[in-house]
Amino acid sequence: MTIELKYWNPVIETLPVKNIRQLQLEKFKRIFKWTYHQSKFHRSIYDDAGIKPEDIQTFEDIRQVPKIEKSMMRNIQRKDPFPYGDALCVPLDDVSVFRQTSGTTGQPVYQPDTWQDWEWWAECWSYILWAQGYRPSDRVFMPFGYNIFVAFWAGHYAAEKIGCEVVPGGVLDTRARILKIQELRATAMMATPTYVLGMADTARSKLGIDPSQLTIKKITCAGEPGASISSTKKRMEDIWGAKVYDHAGATEIGAWSYECIEQSGGLHVNEAFFLVEIQDLETAEIIETPGRQGKMIITALDRYAQPCIRFDSKDLIEWAADPCPCGRTFRMIKGGVVGRTDDITKVKGVLLAPAAVEEVVRSIDDLGNEYEVIVDKLGDVDRIKLKVELNPGAENRFRSVKTHLKEQLRLKTNLTYLIEFYDYGKLPRYEVKAKRFKDLRKKF
Ligand SMILES: [Zn+2]
Repeated sequence: MTIELKYWNPVIETLPVKNIRQLQLEKFKRIFKWTYHQSKFHRSIYDDAGIKPEDIQTFEDIRQVPKIEKSMMRNIQRKDPFPYGDALCVPLDDVSVFRQTSGTTGQPVYQPDTWQDWEWWAECWSYILWAQGYRPSDRVFMPFGYNIFVAFWAGHYAAEKIGCEVVPGGVLDTRARILKIQELRATAMMATPTYVLGMADTARSKLGIDPSQLTIKKITCAGEPGASISSTKKRMEDIWGAKVYDHAGATEIGAWSYECIEQSGGLHVNEAFFLVEIQDLETAEIIETPGRQGKMIITALDRYAQPCIRFDSKDLIEWAADPCPCGRTFRMIKGGVVGRTDDITKVKGVLLAPAAVEEVVRSIDDLGNEYEVIVDKLGDVDRIKLKVELNPGAENRFRSVKTHLKEQLRLKTNLTYLIEFYDYGKLPRYEVKAKRFKDLRKKF
């Protein structure tokens, strides 16, 4: 079967903007009404704010709807109907799958989905994969642990749905996965940036295989911002000889954004399925114009079992100024998710986003993929330490690498670092999401 259409849904993805807004408004009214009537948890929040479904008529009305925070969801769980609590909007019998968040910022949140929700997940991911060039001729290898985290589960089903052949590499170890990719001549895969780089390391050092000689031609990344950090993206693309695309999503939200084949410096928001609002961190006003960063407030417009309405994601994003050459009318966010309000920290009075350090480290060819940033205090003074690895063969360039690294860090982050060099392979390796930033000043 050969299908060479540019869009997964040619009508929806090219709708005139005013029609998209109309669609979002109608869908918001529908999901709000559903949630208000089905969920005791949500209804009490909206009643306290004095908002009823019939009050929502415009986008301005939507902005009056209280935000939902992750911590609020934690408090209701493990209660009846067990284990989801009273945010559940369907009979427990209709829930067909359990997932939970990874718990990197605290107690995991449980996420029930019905079969209808699960089809929605797969449909959202179909937009992503099709936009990134996945076609029925692809053989897609899935190198992730199939478990209680949503990870790439929906990517798996979407790849099947659009007609690809899917190879679930679940419990295989990294070496076995690489050998299977080689054996089956897989053409695409999905993984976190940390694992994409880690697999390449293993291929070269343990198997003597050059990843660019394998048949992988496209890689979809999620779970970490790396595929939107230009130096990390380039590193992955060079090592694998493949195109690397970003996608941002979350368990409690859904698969809300994607980079397309044009790689035009941002992610499309799937505006047919999600309403994204960007809120100014200081003034709390909703930002409509490009070039101003704020945190994302997001609504999943078609998710029914445990809805996501004006969820405070803590992701930092900004609208892109220019439309994408691909012709999709969905708005784009510039540079993907550029950070999290949780991660942004002040060091010596300067705001530091960990992604800025990654951008610098990964732009220097003589440095390995791994690094660690540790912030602590020496007396009353903040101190920031950066641990990096020198690539094999770069030993005689050590001094110039160090000077260059210091200069670039000062330029990009306005901070000076205590830099520690390690031999290649000495820093910890991570399988899925890396923990590379530690702020020891925070009290737990
Ligand atoms: Zn595009």
